[in-house]
Amino acid sequence: MTTTTMETRSFEADVARLLHMMVHSVYSDRDVFLRELISNAADACEKLRYEAIARPELLGDDPKPRITILADAEARQLSVEDNGIGMSGEEMTEALGTIARSGTRAFMERLEAAKGGEKAELVGQFGVGFYSAFMVAEKVEVISRPAGSDEAWRWSSDGKGSYSVGPAAPEDAPQRGTRVVLHLMEDAASCTEPYRLERLVRSHSGHVPVPIKLVEKPG
Ligand code: ADP
Ligand code: MG
Repeated sequence: MTTTTMETRSFEADVARLLHMMVHSVYSDRDVFLRELISNAADACEKLRYEAIARPELLGDDPKPRITILADAEARQLSVEDNGIGMSGEEMTEALGTIARSGTRAFMERLEAAKGGEKAELVGQFGVGFYSAFMVAEKVEVISRPAGSDEAWRWSSDGKGSYSVGPAAPEDAPQRGTRVVLHLMEDAASCTEPYRLERLVRSHSGHVPVPIKLVEKPG
């Protein structure tokens, strides 16, 4: 990516449509967002582990995979951070601005045809992925530093049709990997409650092969 400032871009039409549906029709099953973000964090750690077989230097002095969930009730923010493979700005645009996955398309077709309670069930059945963050967040920021890179990148969006992407100050980014920061909606403020987080992690992400640490920011 050659830009030096934040650039605003429109979501692919299908993404905008999906986001609209997420926010408006699957409210009752919004807890799945955490499972999806943890699964992405674990995938990123697994990708790094694989890449590091050929390039062990990518692991630097931080070889153990980890996922950290930081709850900040006062700021009404929840972050999910991993020390995995990370994303460049270009990769963010590709991965978070388009629907490359055929599964998502099938999900949307089913969702459009479904009624009432069926919709929530569909969200549980299909992995709806990263965009489920917008069920609980009015703004999502992704700050990432690819493994082996000195440069950091930031992606942010209110989920309403466009997103911004550009360089981030390295001191604001993880040493390696990705931090997803959810600026929670007012009615999703309880997502920072430690008991609730613990219950969600245990029930939906118990099988994840990467250690998950819950950290509560003191108020
Ligand atoms: P899926 O996980 O099924 O590919 P998602 O919507 O959950 O779909 O995520 C889309 C893509 O965004 C991922 O495939 C990955 O390339 C990228 N991504 C999301 N979260 C992370 C992360 N924490 N680290 C690295 N890449 C990520
Ligand atoms: Mg995913």
